Amino acid sequence: MAGAELIGKEECKEVMDVLRTGIFARYSFDKERQGIWKVRDFEKAFAKYFGSTYALGVTSGSAAIKVALTALDVGPGDEVICPAFTFMATYEAVLEVGGIPVMADIDDTLNLDPDDIPNKITPRTKAVIPVHMCGAPARIDKIMKVAKKHKLLVLEDNAQGCGSSYKGQMLGSFGHMGIFSFDHYKTITTGEGGMIITNDLDLYHRAEWYHDHGHDHLSTVHRALDGRTILGFNYRMNEFQGALGLAQLRKLKKVISAQRKNKAAIKEAFATIPGLKFRLIPDPEGDSATFLAFNLPAEKKTQAFQKALKAEGIDTVRFKDNFWHYVPNWEHFLAKSTANSLKNPFSDPRNRKVTYSRKSIPHAEDLLGRTLIMGINVKMPAAKLKAIRKGIANAAKTL
Ligand SMILES: *Cc1c(COP(=O)(O)O)cnc(C)c1O
Repeated sequence: MAGAELIGKEECKEVMDVLRTGIFARYSFDKERQGIWKVRDFEKAFAKYFGSTYALGVTSGSAAIKVALTALDVGPGDEVICPAFTFMATYEAVLEVGGIPVMADIDDTLNLDPDDIPNKITPRTKAVIPVHMCGAPARIDKIMKVAKKHKLLVLEDNAQGCGSSYKGQMLGSFGHMGIFSFDHYKTITTGEGGMIITNDLDLYHRAEWYHDHGHDHLSTVHRALDGRTILGFNYRMNEFQGALGLAQLRKLKKVISAQRKNKAAIKEAFATIPGLKFRLIPDPEGDSATFLAFNLPAEKKTQAFQKALKAEGIDTVRFKDNFWHYVPNWEHFLAKSTANSLKNPFSDPRNRKVTYSRKSIPHAEDLLGRTLIMGINVKMPAAKLKAIRKGIANAAKTL
């Protein structure tokens, strides 16, 4: 829950600035807005924090993926390699632009396995979307190498890894583009919202134009006189989201350090359990610590342990059971039931027919069956941590 736990007077102040001007739109009304440009300021602060040249605020993390894929010119006929373990939005966004998502396996990081990318490449593969799930990095250096070798575009879905880093570089800044989500559950929140970052001016322009009906935003006179080269749509962030984002971004360091402390305390209690292994984190220094993930040697044992933890009041998720984050469980996706009766883009003759079988992702099938994941909060007072540690010790006795 992270940032949502810390909403307070700083957010109120930022939002009040906007309310007082009466201008809730991010563009135009230069005089009326009295110098208040919250989305623009949020983008600037965000780009700086993440060490990228450009940042573009949008309406959601899902929209961010779609806008970024559009900027990257991914469309009908193109295939995009995505990990089997991710939130549905990654796959939906590829379909939204008319492309076809191709499912790839995960490794011990629980993220996209760079070694499985070559197995999933076809002449149609245009891009790959590594997703940094549950706050910790994929083996992003290796993924970048493989992508470069095969001339693939890389879009980092960093919706869940805001503030995490790999060897000192912020996640989201490795790929050609990176995206973030600020929905209620994410590390910082603006209610709904998303961000795209890139160092490439052309990609930034294409994203910026597309997200606002093609407006090039270069006119200093009036929005109605903006130039335009491509058609777009409306994925504009509003000033309230920008205001919330500014206040939340200032709290990001605090969120992460609190989570790290709490995670370390809980991890200690699990560490003594025989056979228990923690998720591989390629750079533990860069973990945003929003989740703690560990595995046991066998699936049955994992299910029993999850029950025992539950009896102690400790909730965990076994993602092999999850309906929204594991491709083989998406019955509507597997049935190719897009929102149009033609089942486009699956039925588009320009696209190759792709299958999504559990057999093609053996590591995900094994690992997600034996992995339990626990959410870490910012606010976990000593008494609560003590109770969790005691509950873990009790549950461990049943093993
Ligand atoms: C949350 C999430 C998204 C979508 O973000 P929204 O802001 O909720 O649209 C995309 N990818 C992943 C991995 C997510 O967790």
